[in-house]
Amino acid sequence: MKTIRISIIFSFIFLAMSLSAGAQELRKEVFDLLNLEAQGLEKVKSACDQQQWKEAAEALLDYYRHREGIANPDLNLKNIKISKEEQKWADDALEHTFFVHKGYQPSYNYGKDINWQYWPVQDNELRWQLHRHKWFTPMGKAYRLTGDEKYAKEWAYQYMDWIKKNPLVQVNKEEYELASAGEVKGAVENVRFAWRPLEVSNRLQDQTLQFMLFINSPSFTPEFLTEFLLNYHRHALHILNNYSAQGNHLLFEAQRMVCAGAFFPEFKEANGWRESGISILNREIKKQVYADGGQYELDPHYHLASINIFCKALRMADVNGFRQEFPQEYVNTILKMIEFYANICFPDYGNPCFSDAKLGERKEEIRNYKEWLKIFPDSKWIRYYASEGRKGAPLPYLSHGALTSGFFTFRNGWTNESTVMVVKAGPKGEWHCQPDNGTFEFWFNGRNLFPDSGSYVYAGDKEVMKLRNWFRRTASHNTLTMNEKNLETTQSVTKMWKEEGNEQILVTENPHYQGLTHRRSVFFVDQTYVVIVDEAVGEAKGTVNLNFHLCEGKVNLDKKNNILTTAYEGESNVKLQCFAEKKAEMKEKEGWRSTAYRKRVARTAVSFDVEKNDAAPVRYITVIYPSKESGSFPTFKAKFLNKGFDLKGVKIEISLNGKKRQLGYEL
Ligand code: MG
Repeated sequence: MKTIRISIIFSFIFLAMSLSAGAQELRKEVFDLLNLEAQGLEKVKSACDQQQWKEAAEALLDYYRHREGIANPDLNLKNIKISKEEQKWADDALEHTFFVHKGYQPSYNYGKDINWQYWPVQDNELRWQLHRHKWFTPMGKAYRLTGDEKYAKEWAYQYMDWIKKNPLVQVNKEEYELASAGEVKGAVENVRFAWRPLEVSNRLQDQTLQFMLFINSPSFTPEFLTEFLLNYHRHALHILNNYSAQGNHLLFEAQRMVCAGAFFPEFKEANGWRESGISILNREIKKQVYADGGQYELDPHYHLASINIFCKALRMADVNGFRQEFPQEYVNTILKMIEFYANICFPDYGNPCFSDAKLGERKEEIRNYKEWLKIFPDSKWIRYYASEGRKGAPLPYLSHGALTSGFFTFRNGWTNESTVMVVKAGPKGEWHCQPDNGTFEFWFNGRNLFPDSGSYVYAGDKEVMKLRNWFRRTASHNTLTMNEKNLETTQSVTKMWKEEGNEQILVTENPHYQGLTHRRSVFFVDQTYVVIVDEAVGEAKGTVNLNFHLCEGKVNLDKKNNILTTAYEGESNVKLQCFAEKKAEMKEKEGWRSTAYRKRVARTAVSFDVEKNDAAPVRYITVIYPSKESGSFPTFKAKFLNKGFDLKGVKIEISLNGKKRQLGYEL
């Protein structure tokens, strides 16, 4: 009896809690934020004049339900599609199992009484991205397609619950820093996650879609509309006053302010939001994009994201009639950025996973080109990549250097049989860039034979940072280190770039450490194979490591002759042989390759180690020879012809199956 009574009392408490969490009030202050003189809002205005707030809210809802003339290029209500994955997110969300991050699957449950501060793994991304509400728009699609009110009812409930439990409390700088260091918990700490401008901007954009999807639902009441608009306005103001200082975050925020201003022109400040976004985009596209088209974070993934940000703002302008606010130069720069990206990608649409980049999905990559083609319908080469080579024509050249960004591509074709090597050797990049100067990826006949280690995770507690740092560190790249230490300076200088003929050459130099400079000379010979000359020069003493990380799969090691040969299935294999001037020892190392967040596979990694006991340079010649078959590689020999390090150039002799050839250059 007692138990029953207690459970009844508890049920009442739960009921009361859920009612109060979902409770919606008519927030009449919203009418002060709107321009009631605007066409279509006459009834709202007259109700407001008579202080009939309920009628005013009803009239406003009626206005929005029938509003015409504002377009959102990201959603066509007449053709809504939901993927299986999105349907699952929508259904899971009904039980408060929220899809937050692809790297953390299956999704966590946030409790019957939603705990927005639940943080099962101390990875910042998991906590931040909860506040992007990635399941809300899928709920909207599910609602539209099924007409089942449960999605709308639950969405409105969660929307209100979030507002109630994530107040935008004012935090001073000191408190913010303490919260960042994990020393303050509760509402102050929560603001750092729930109200980070990037997350806010995410909601600002996605809530326009949710608005369109749910507006006709009975759960979208006049009271809810006032709560929604007030919350939305708070979001826009928060970004306006807290734009990120730089980088892709700032671009995302600016583009989403353009979206907010264009989608809700009824707000008195809407023009200001739009203008603020546009002026930032116009300013930053000049600052963040080098003349060669590369975005300054030097990360293929954020480069791509930046293209899409610039394009998204442009499409919003196009459908709502303010394209003229973007100068032609802005459009030209986007085209340059796309050309840069096409150059560093492989024929299977794979991208190098340099810096924090993840491997894009082929379908997505092709869809990008299709979207870009809408903006640049006259571009033959965008048409070519958008149509998987069926229409248009590829870029009218093969090898290509982006000299300021420091991305160099050796390429012998645009088809699946081609050989493509991309070397990264540029200036110091922003946060997402890794200390990897001189590294490369090498792709042949459908396989990336030397993929980058990738990034695996971003940031969080010590355990998360330890994982991140392994993938980020210099020695996890195909470049030279001393004692496996991270580079002290990442500022490569291009000494030579020759992108045509049968001996294409890149010479790049980076002042790796105090007392040790690394000069890497890459020869793309007969547009077939690669010879790399590495020279470590300076007073520093220690173990010089020349690091190579292969693709996952079977690799045979011949330690006596410093040879690696792959025995992969399929028609893409490689032989690598390293010739060092002094005794070099092949050492097997820990090797991982990550193509997506928290996804990794083990792979073979080695370093050729040479003891440097004096000021004499350490020099290596490495031959990398791809072949369709794993059993048919030539035999190599290689030696230096010039004695010691020469500032003016390099001269070597290589032989393939006994056939000698000299390679070199003069600076
Ligand atoms: Mg890397």
